[in-house]
Amino acid sequence: MHTDLLITHATQLLTMDGGLGLVADGAVACHDGRIVAVGPTADVLAQVDSAAEALDARGHVVLPGFVDAHTHVVYAGDRVAEFEMRLRGATYLDIMAAGGGIMSTVRATRAASDDELLAATRTRLDRMLSLGTTTVEAKTGYGLDGETERRMLRVIEELNRSHAIELVPTYLGAHAVPAEYIGRADDYTDFIVDDLGKLAAEGQPIEFVDVFCDAGAFTVEQSAAILTRARALGYRIKIHADEFAHLGGAALAARLGAISADHLAVTPAEDRAALAEAGVVAVVLPGTSFGLGHAHYADARALIDAGATVALATDLNPGTCVCESMPFMVALACRYTGMTPGEAVIAATRNAAAAVGRERENGSLTVGKVADILLLDVADYRWLAYGFGDNPVVRVIKRGTVVR
Ligand SMILES: [Zn+2]
Repeated sequence: MHTDLLITHATQLLTMDGGLGLVADGAVACHDGRIVAVGPTADVLAQVDSAAEALDARGHVVLPGFVDAHTHVVYAGDRVAEFEMRLRGATYLDIMAAGGGIMSTVRATRAASDDELLAATRTRLDRMLSLGTTTVEAKTGYGLDGETERRMLRVIEELNRSHAIELVPTYLGAHAVPAEYIGRADDYTDFIVDDLGKLAAEGQPIEFVDVFCDAGAFTVEQSAAILTRARALGYRIKIHADEFAHLGGAALAARLGAISADHLAVTPAEDRAALAEAGVVAVVLPGTSFGLGHAHYADARALIDAGATVALATDLNPGTCVCESMPFMVALACRYTGMTPGEAVIAATRNAAAAVGRERENGSLTVGKVADILLLDVADYRWLAYGFGDNPVVRVIKRGTVVR
């Protein structure tokens, strides 16, 4: 068989096919952007007659591209001054109550031109790609009005066309109650429920609908109203649950059959069991706890032990996690959430693909899957957890093409 790209002699090849799927001296061949052969180098070479491009991966780990399953990558401005306020003792909820936090990014995003928003986001995507992320879930939620939320969806669509990274669009109109609706969260909830119908009728490019269910954001009742409407319109649903306060967002995710429940920093045992039972992917975001300087992290160990599928993501956003690095999330997850290196790498690839409905296409290296592949500058995958603060990714292949 002729192939476009052949990678041979990987010291460790991780296919993620039933667990890590570790193959010593592994190879993978790609054609037309898909994987056509994978396994021990000798077996793959027996099937491949020629390759347009060949990479020798001796001394390298080869694994699937990272899927960042939870990001707020589209935004304008920054909150560096607010960061110093937090260092001096103000809490995230104090800052939010004073009109800072998400609201300051909403003002900057509303004021930015399309070109400014595109350029700022593209720069972040470039860094994500160099760090090995090949698929990114991207949320709206810094518009919080009909027009700006639609502008954010257009930016995501445009970048999906023009950037090597594949973006998965999530509508998060319920990220915060905007200034125009302060004290009237129920009215803003009604606005979103109504606007969802319009967004669907317009055929807007939305795959998921998400709600920030927490203290200072949306109640369980408001979240349920939005997510029930979204589900009725045919959207799959996600929820920010139990980041600061245990309101019952994770239980709601289980009850409504959400694809994922994200954060889960203060989720109790009965809700962890409910997520596992309902098959809701638990997305843990250790970069946010780190970014806030909190000592408390989501208990991924307990989630895994309860039988839940656990995914990792950056939660990249200008307030609580200004970090594009999935390798750093793996390093944090192993230190603070109770995951082993193997579990964390599975969480950053295969399980993260499941969190964005891409398990048939991405997150593992098996025949027929999209050829999103990384080469690391280390020969043992556990270095992803062991080392931190540097970029271990030396080659990035997206849809069978070497892009980094
Ligand atoms: Zn988030």
